[in-house]
Amino acid sequence: SEKIIRVEHLQQFFPVGGFGKNKKYVRAVDDVSFHIEKGETLGLVGESGCGKTTTGRSLLRLYEPTDGRIIYKDQVLFDSGKVPLVDENGNDIIENGVPKLGKKTAVNMYPYRKKLQIVFQDPYASLDPRMTVGDIIGEAIDINKIAASKQDRHDKIIEVLKTVGLNSEHANRYPHEFSGGQRQRVGIARALVVDPDFIVADEPVSALDVSIQAQVVNMFEDLQKERGLTYLFIAHDLSIVNHISNRIGVMYLGRMVELSESGEIIFRPLHPYTKSLISAIPVADPRVSRERSRIVLEGEVPSPLNPPSGCHFRTRCKYATEQCAMEVPKWREVEKGHFVACHNIERIN
Ligand code: SF4
Repeated sequence: SEKIIRVEHLQQFFPVGGFGKNKKYVRAVDDVSFHIEKGETLGLVGESGCGKTTTGRSLLRLYEPTDGRIIYKDQVLFDSGKVPLVDENGNDIIENGVPKLGKKTAVNMYPYRKKLQIVFQDPYASLDPRMTVGDIIGEAIDINKIAASKQDRHDKIIEVLKTVGLNSEHANRYPHEFSGGQRQRVGIARALVVDPDFIVADEPVSALDVSIQAQVVNMFEDLQKERGLTYLFIAHDLSIVNHISNRIGVMYLGRMVELSESGEIIFRPLHPYTKSLISAIPVADPRVSRERSRIVLEGEVPSPLNPPSGCHFRTRCKYATEQCAMEVPKWREVEKGHFVACHNIERIN
């Protein structure tokens, strides 16, 4: 199967004050690697501030990454030139005894914007209130120059509105005239109209009523089947992510701690953090589950400005050893397709 997106050693640091040598950074994304296959949904979960949204935006280069490599199909979109190239199996390529590094690259993203789209969490904030829905979608068409004529532009707007369950009358209305669910449909229509391959869905249902969430998630699934779309689906609600994803990646304080097939993550989590996330998911009544599946964990998430040394999770981990404070756990494939970063996986499981 074809890999649509490859992210290798992605880092995204943001300056947060200080000068010169004392300049401080928050390591929002710290050495994260994964790939997404064509037609697949990779779910990304973790508490707020864990770096999942930043990962989604950095891989689209809405933020210019601090370090790492991003590849779309066979095209390198970004390469800092400072991280090792990896082979098919994700192992570093060694040349003359040292890891071979990539070539510094930062392509013009304009031609790729059509193919790589994003749907934002908050349809209220991401739609311009002064523009009609037709103008909002039309703007995406114009920016990407995908309409052959005025008529074609009009047809595309109407067609995409129908695709997301709206109709031609809605084109002349303003965002405030819509419900939250309808507004998110407009957000999805704006992403879809340019005919993308890949969509970062950044908490697309978190701001919606529970009763509407399922409809929107189902629409994402139907669109995927019809159009062969690939998703990075970001959410803090594990039951939703589990429902829609083929594989799930779990993030904690800027790092990926575990990644595997959804069933593995849900029924046989290996990392202590993932285990505590899963134990917080109830079954049964979906109305109750939304509240309770909010992650319940002992202790506070440490400040991302000053994360614990070694394993970031160690201040909340009952298995922590001295080594956990000294060394950053390596990201390793412990079983086929099941990646974990923890020193003590074998002892714990
Ligand atoms: Fe816990 Fe240590 Fe594993 Fe981190 S590396 S999750 S602190 S056992």
